[in-house]
Amino acid sequence: MPLVTSEQMLLDAQKGGYAVGAFNVENMEMVKAVIGAAEEVKAPVMLQTTPSTVKYGSLDTYYGMVAAEAGKASVPVCLHLDHGSSFELAVQAMKAGYTSVMIDGSHEAFEENIALTKKVADVAKAFGIPVEAELGKVGGKEDDLEADADTNTDPAEAKEFAERTGVSSLAIAIGTAHGFYAGTPVLDKERVSQIKEVVPVPLVLHGASGLSDEDVRECVSRGMCKVNFATELRVAYTDACKKLLEEKPETFDPKKLGNVGMEAVKELVKGHMKVCGCDGKAY
Ligand SMILES: [Zn+2]
Repeated sequence: MPLVTSEQMLLDAQKGGYAVGAFNVENMEMVKAVIGAAEEVKAPVMLQTTPSTVKYGSLDTYYGMVAAEAGKASVPVCLHLDHGSSFELAVQAMKAGYTSVMIDGSHEAFEENIALTKKVADVAKAFGIPVEAELGKVGGKEDDLEADADTNTDPAEAKEFAERTGVSSLAIAIGTAHGFYAGTPVLDKERVSQIKEVVPVPLVLHGASGLSDEDVRECVSRGMCKVNFATELRVAYTDACKKLLEEKPETFDPKKLGNVGMEAVKELVKGHMKVCGCDGKAY
C-alpha cells in the first residue's frame, strides 16, 4: 500500500497500549529487511533516516526505496525523518515524500526549542504531515550531535511544550542514551507515567538499543507509543557480513553479503516488534 503517515499509527498504539517500532535504515537491504519483518509479524512499521544517512544517500533515494517496498507490502509503512536538524531539512523531507518528520530542537533552550518546533509544525500542517519533537536530552551520540546525560524531561514543561507547538508526538528523556550502553542505564520509568498523565500526544522512546526487553516493555506499558532502534540494526547487519567473510573469504558478490545482512536485521526487528507489542496490529 502507499506510505501512510505516523499520525493514526501512533494514536492506535496509544489507544491499544503498545508501541510502533521505528527502525533506522541505511541501505536497500535494511529497508527490505524491516518491511519484510513487518509483513511476517503483521505489524505497522516506521522506517527512519537521520540527517547523516540522508547525506550518505539522499531524501529522494530513501523515499524511492521505501515507497517501492511499501507499495508491495500489505502492512502500513511510514517513512520518517529522524532527528531533523533544521527547519530546511524537515521541509525538504516533506517535499520529498516523507510521511512523518522529527525536528530536534532539544539542544536549544526551552523557548528556542518551542519556536523552532512550532515553525516546522505549522508548515507540516499544510502538508498533512505529523511532527515529532524532543524535549529534554537523551544522552550519548545522537547522530552528529552530542548531548549530556541526566537531563530528563520535566512533566510540566512537556505539557506546555506540546500545547504551544502543536506537535503530533513527543520524544522525552528518561535516562536512555543513543548507541550502546557501557554500564546499566538508570531509567526513570515513573517519569513516563508522570508525563503521560499531562501530555495527550503519543510519547517516543529514543536510545532503546541495548535496553533489556523488560525495560522496553515497562516503558511501553507506561505510555511510550514509538520506540526507536538504530545502532543494533547496523551491528547485526555488519556482523553477519563479517561472519560470512571470515567463513568464506573468497566471497565477492555484494548480493551474498546483502542477503546475510538482511536476514540478520529481519530476525532482530521481528524480535523488537514482539517486545513493543505491535505484532498482529497491522490494520
Ligand atoms: Zn534519537
